[in-house]
Amino acid sequence: MPFHLLQHPLASHLVTHLRDKTTKPATFRTVAYQLSLLLAIESTRDLGTAPKEIETPLEPVTGTVLSQNLVVVPILRAGLGMVQPFLDLFPDVSVGYIGLERDHETAQAKHYYCKLPPLHAGRVIIVDPMLATGGSAAQAISVVKKAGAMDLILACIVASPEGVKEVHRQHPDVRIHTAALDRELNARKYILPGLGDFGDRLYGT
Ligand code: URA
Repeated sequence: MPFHLLQHPLASHLVTHLRDKTTKPATFRTVAYQLSLLLAIESTRDLGTAPKEIETPLEPVTGTVLSQNLVVVPILRAGLGMVQPFLDLFPDVSVGYIGLERDHETAQAKHYYCKLPPLHAGRVIIVDPMLATGGSAAQAISVVKKAGAMDLILACIVASPEGVKEVHRQHPDVRIHTAALDRELNARKYILPGLGDFGDRLYGT
């Protein structure tokens, strides 16, 4: 299954900061930015490129430029905390948004908001920091696939084994990049050891 764990001492250091319950929202946002920057680099390692003839001050040379469009799609609200590094690294990136809520009758995630740019030609990276049950992520993937996405990655900060399994059960083609793979979900579907509610910690709610 296409699964990539970010293996870097800095990533482990940053995840530990996020997990720490004494980390305040301002620091939490900074560290979430830094981890998302590492994930943005990892998840675009094989982005399409094209040759470009240029001249240095000394001689002509064939350089390389990015040739594949990039779209980042945060799942509201916590996904917003992962968007900025993509904007900072890739000036031509487009941003789509998906808002999901749980349907109380079916217990399924349903989208209540969806605004997407054209998706078919580019790499689409859905960002959702906590991959818990996998229900929301799988639903968001279905939505972007229906809208034309073909080259798709799910980037998260902490994943549960249950969430990875569920996303790959529904979407075996989708690559998952995560900074941590945790032990399990608890009865309330929080990730253990986890870091609590990512959105609450990000925005101090
Ligand atoms: N969402 C969160 O913010 N935290 C979890 O542990 C699970 C889902």
